[in-house]
Amino acid sequence: LDKAYSFMLRIRVPGGVATSHQWLETDRMAEQYANGTIKLTTRQAFQLHGIIKTNLKRTIKEINDTAMDTIAACGDVNRNVMCNPNPFLSSVHADVLKTAQDISAHLTPATRAYHEIWLDGEKIQSSEEEQEPIYGKTYLPRKFKITIAVPPSNDVDIFANCLSFIAIVENGKLVGYNVAVGGGMGSTHGNEDTFPRLADVIGFCTVEQAVDVAEKVVLVQRDFGDRTDRKHSRFKYTVNDRGEEWILAKLNEYLGYDLEPVRPYEFKDNGDRFGWVEDEVGNFHYTLFVEGGRVLDVPGYPMRTGLREIAKMHDGDFRLTANQNVVIANVSAKKRAEVEALLEKYGMHRSHERSALRLSSIACVALPTCALALAEAERYLPEVVTRLEETLEDVGLRHDAITVRMTGCPNGCGRPFISEIGFVGRGPDRYNVYLGGGHAGQRLSKLYRQDVEADDVQALLAPILQRYAKEREEGEHFGDFVIRAGYVTATVQGNDFHKN
Ligand code: SF4
Repeated sequence: LDKAYSFMLRIRVPGGVATSHQWLETDRMAEQYANGTIKLTTRQAFQLHGIIKTNLKRTIKEINDTAMDTIAACGDVNRNVMCNPNPFLSSVHADVLKTAQDISAHLTPATRAYHEIWLDGEKIQSSEEEQEPIYGKTYLPRKFKITIAVPPSNDVDIFANCLSFIAIVENGKLVGYNVAVGGGMGSTHGNEDTFPRLADVIGFCTVEQAVDVAEKVVLVQRDFGDRTDRKHSRFKYTVNDRGEEWILAKLNEYLGYDLEPVRPYEFKDNGDRFGWVEDEVGNFHYTLFVEGGRVLDVPGYPMRTGLREIAKMHDGDFRLTANQNVVIANVSAKKRAEVEALLEKYGMHRSHERSALRLSSIACVALPTCALALAEAERYLPEVVTRLEETLEDVGLRHDAITVRMTGCPNGCGRPFISEIGFVGRGPDRYNVYLGGGHAGQRLSKLYRQDVEADDVQALLAPILQRYAKEREEGEHFGDFVIRAGYVTATVQGNDFHKN
C-alpha cells in the first residue's frame, strides 16, 4: 500500500474574478475531492485542501474544464496577477482588470509540460527557448508577484509585491500606471540578511505599455536576480542591492524607451468596503466578510451552502479580494432582492456588522495544512480578535479599523509586516508581535516583542489600545500612534526593519 498523501491545489483566478459557474464547480470539487471547504487566499485565488493523491489528476482536469487552471499558481514564475476589485468604479475597474488579465496571459509559462502531465495533452517537440520565450531555460530565480491597484484603495497591498501598477485616473479616465518595483514580505527568523521590503515607485507608463513593462521587469529579474542563494533571490533583493536608479535605467534599456516621471496618487487604506454598494451603471455589489478566507458550513452559519445557492441564481460574478473576502458582484437591480433574501436566509446579511478589527483581519492557512507553519494562524486569530474586542469595546474603539494579521511563519503570506498589528509564528503558541505598519499598507512594521505566548497577547496589547483611545490625535491611525507614542520606531525601508 502507498502512503495516503494529500495535496493542496491552488486555483489561479487572474484579477480575482470568477463566474457563478466557476464558483459552483469549485464548491463541487471542494465537496467531492477536498475537505469540504474553500480557502480564499490573500492573492485572490482559491485553494482546495486535502485532495488525496488518486484524485489529484482528475481534480486538475476538472479545474481546467471550468476555464480555470493551476498553472503558475506555484513555482519560479509569475503568479496570480492581483487586481483591486473596486466594482463601484466600474468603468475604470474594467480597464484595469483587462490589464491584469493581459499581463497574466502574457506571463503564463508557455510550456506544454503542464498539459502533457495533467491533461494528457499531446507531446510536442520544441526547443526550450520556443517553449518559454520569456522565462527561457532557467525560469526565474524565485516566484514573482504582480498587482494592480486603483487609488485610493490599496486593498491588494501594492507595496508588498515584486511589481505593481498604480492606476492613474484623470478626468474619469484611466491614463496609465505608476510602476512600483521591489516589494516583498518573506523573511527568515534569526537571519537579518532577509527582510520584508516596500516597493519603490519608479515611473509611469501608459495603459498600452503595461504588458511590455511587466515583461521587461520580469526579464531584468531573470537576468540579474541572485541564483546562488535562494534566501536572497527574490526581486526585492535585486532592487535593494542594485538601487532604484539602476533598476530604472536597466528597465528603460530593456524597454527601448523611458518611463515617464511618477504621477501623483494617494492611498487611504488597504481594507475592503463591506455591505452593498451601487455602481455608476446601476448594478449592485455585496462584499461578504469571510473570516480567515475559509468558506465552510458550520452549525448556525452555513456560508458555503448560502454562497452555492446564490451562485445558482446570480447573473453577475464573484470577486475574490486580497483581504480574503468575496464580493457578490454585478448583481442586477432585478436580482438584488433575491440575493438579499438568500444572504438573510443563510445568516450572511450581517457579516459586515462585526467589529472593525475583525473586518480588518487576515490569517494565512498555517497549521495543520501548511508544512512551513511554526504556529497556528487561521484557526487562532479569531480567538485573539475576540479577546482584543473586549478591550476595544471597553474603550469605544469597536468601529475603528486597525489592520491585524497573523501568519504561521515569517514567509509572510498574509502580509503581516505591513499591518498595524502583526503576529508571526515562532513556535507552537508563540508569536513575534509587530507594530507600526501603515494603515494603507504604505509602511513596514517593527518588532515590538519577541516570543510572546499566545495567552499573553491581550495583556500585552490592551494597555496600548487603551492609551490609543485616550491620546490619539484627530484621524490618527493606530500604526501611526504607536510610533508617536514610542512603542516602536518607524521602519522607513526594509534595511531598517531589524533596527530599533
Ligand atoms: Fe505562508 Fe508561512 Fe502561513 Fe504557510 S505558515 S501559509 S508559508 S505564512
